[in-house]
Amino acid sequence: MNNYTVNGNITAVHLKYGKDLIINTADLDKVLDHRWYLVMVRKRMYAASNMIIKGKATVVNAHRFLHKGHGKDKVTTVDGDALNCTRANLTLLKKKPRYAEYACSICGTLKTARVDSIRAGKNKCCSQECGNESRRRGVAKRMEAKKHLHQRISVVY
Ligand SMILES: [Zn+2]
Repeated sequence: MNNYTVNGNITAVHLKYGKDLIINTADLDKVLDHRWYLVMVRKRMYAASNMIIKGKATVVNAHRFLHKGHGKDKVTTVDGDALNCTRANLTLLKKKPRYAEYACSICGTLKTARVDSIRAGKNKCCSQECGNESRRRGVAKRMEAKKHLHQRISVVY
C-alpha cells in the first residue's frame, strides 16, 4: 500500500522520487486497494498499477482507473498533469470528426467529405453532373440579373 497525506477532500498518494498522485479523498479507499507506481513515458509522468482484469495481468493508469466513463474513450487531464487525478481534472478526450456529411445543392444527395473542405465551401455538389448543372444555373442566374438590370435601366430612361 502507498503512503498518503489527506488534506481535506484532496489526498496525495505518495509515489517514488517525491512524486504524488493527487486524488479526491472520496476515491482513496478505491485507490488504496492497489499498489501505485510512477511511470514515465515520453517525459510525461503518470501513476499506474498492475491489476488482474478478467484473469489477465493488466497495467492500469490512475486517470483511467478513476474516471467513470469507460469504453474506448481516451481519458485525459484538463491541466495536462497526468498525476493530478482529481475528479474535476479528469475528462474524456474528444476527437474532432475529420469527415462530415453535406447535402448536394442541386439534388440534395448526402455525401461525405472532409470537414475543412466543406468549411472552405469546396463541396457544393455530389457529382460532376450536378456540378455542371450548378454552373449552368449560375450562368442563367447572372444572365437573368443582367436582363433585369437592362429593364430597370430602360424604365429609368
Ligand atoms: Zn447532386
